[in-house]
Amino acid sequence: MILDTDLKAQLAQYLELMEGDVLLKVSAGSDDTSRDMMELVDELATMSSRIKVETTELERTPSFSVNRVGEDTGITFAGIPLGHEFTSLVLALLQVSGRAPKEDQKLIDQAKNLEGKHHFVTYVSLSCQNCPVVVQALNVLSVLNPNITHTMIDGATFKEEAESNNIMAVPTVFLNGESFGGGRMSLEEILAKLGSAPDASEFENKDPYDVLVVGGGPASASAAIYAARKGIRTGIVAERFGGQVNDTAGIENFISVKRTEGPKFAANLEEHVKDYDIDVMNLQRATGLERKQDFVEIELENGASLKGKSVVLSTGARWRKIGVPGEDEFRNKGVAYCPHCDGPLFEGKDVSVIGGGNSGVEAAIDLAGIVNHVTVLEFSSELKADSVLQERLHSLPNVTVLTNAKTTEITGEDNVNGLTYIDRETETEQHIELEGVFVQIGLLPNTDWLGDSVERNKFGEIVVDRHGATNVPGVFAAGDCTDDPNKQIIISMGSGANTALNAFDYLIRN
Ligand SMILES: Cc1cc2nc3c(=O)[nH]c(=O)nc-3n(C[C@H](O)[C@H](O)[C@H](O)COP(=O)(O)OP(=O)(O)OC[C@H]3O[C@@H](n4cnc5c(N)ncnc54)[C@H](O)[C@@H]3O)c2cc1C
Repeated sequence: MILDTDLKAQLAQYLELMEGDVLLKVSAGSDDTSRDMMELVDELATMSSRIKVETTELERTPSFSVNRVGEDTGITFAGIPLGHEFTSLVLALLQVSGRAPKEDQKLIDQAKNLEGKHHFVTYVSLSCQNCPVVVQALNVLSVLNPNITHTMIDGATFKEEAESNNIMAVPTVFLNGESFGGGRMSLEEILAKLGSAPDASEFENKDPYDVLVVGGGPASASAAIYAARKGIRTGIVAERFGGQVNDTAGIENFISVKRTEGPKFAANLEEHVKDYDIDVMNLQRATGLERKQDFVEIELENGASLKGKSVVLSTGARWRKIGVPGEDEFRNKGVAYCPHCDGPLFEGKDVSVIGGGNSGVEAAIDLAGIVNHVTVLEFSSELKADSVLQERLHSLPNVTVLTNAKTTEITGEDNVNGLTYIDRETETEQHIELEGVFVQIGLLPNTDWLGDSVERNKFGEIVVDRHGATNVPGVFAAGDCTDDPNKQIIISMGSGANTALNAFDYLIRN
């Protein structure tokens, strides 16, 4: 049975929501995958009288397209959309049957008005968490606009095709045969990439906000919700809503939620923010801040500017990358940046930590209690960490320290299997077999855009007091972009809430 009893029960409830008939055009061969696909399609047809099936020959076999009767939508699944893609199949059935996609009307209008032919192809794996976001967004475009088609391709079923297109990570999207992008992309991001983003004129003449939050991560979401709950005019302007959690695999330390996935956490953040009267301006980068007489003005990359009676800066940080081959390719497949978060996933395995400063040595000590063995690689001739940390590190039986080690490559197949470095003393190339690489060469705050407008420390972090206030009246800051030494989701959210309440207090007093 291709669908287990639980899945069938859930599916039955969804299929009841179908509003019109759907025609599945199926291209099947005599291989095992085709047989499984036929089983799935037949099962769907038995479960709902609204689903009709017709055999045909499509560009790829096995595959099937999901159509209105008498009108092709352009949505095709090549391979079997089970695993994380099962939701994409269910949504495609509902939307093709006539149920409106749950998207902002503004995005729906942009999708309908897109001009020109757009043929998208997305390579996925059924265990990828980010893939369904892209597949579902492109399917929505196909449902809404007759000039757009989208084919999801399971790379495991179409291995040769994936290899010949050099697919090393999923999701990877092609548009009209040319590479379009990779990684998680929302409908809004795809539309912006297609040139359909709102221009500066949409931001002109916006009334000043009581609290204007710059950034879209956990700190920003929390600041905006706390501000909006006071009933004051609140706006969020963010380069990419969700922040670092978009790139996080598993989250196990957000207290009260035992385990969740980064993309799901980011989607929940957005949903919670949208529950309030908050003006969310996503995909907009702030490029400057100026304190004027009555307002703080935030300049945007698109040329517009926004005004806030108070401003919360929460532009977060990014991990400093080592910049060697394999680092991007194996990110979340053995390359990790957060030992508190991802360490437990490497229990009993051999790992390395790149970086011998305080964060690297702390990470190594932390990891040594979980993993089988840790190799610390430091570029210079000695570790830079505090001596107390170094003593603790050297006392551990399962840690090797390599100094004068210049990492040159992280190797692997599906996941990391090793690390290559140059021993700078002997000038020889060395290779270590291991399953995890923790890059610990520091965090870079996203604060360059502020220049000298707000006080920052030597690391570029915004200096705040215990109210989250900066040196500029009315300007507050929260989360990873500040000089708070602890960078975690729960801490960012706490400081976001704190700054919003203090910004409210500031507004009352002024
Ligand atoms: C791989 C990884 C795994 C992690 N795992 C965990 C974990 O398991 N548990 C945990 O507690 N923490 C974890 N962390 C740390 C956690 O994600 C951060 O502490 C948290 O996201 C910080 O939130 P923030 O809102 O301060 O900043 P961010 O999440 O960095 O968000 C910053 C926001 O500001 C926006 N922005 C940046 N510059 C601009 C600009 N100029 N204009 C407009 N917007 C801008 C960004 O697009 C983003 O929306 C992890 C981090 C990483 C990278």
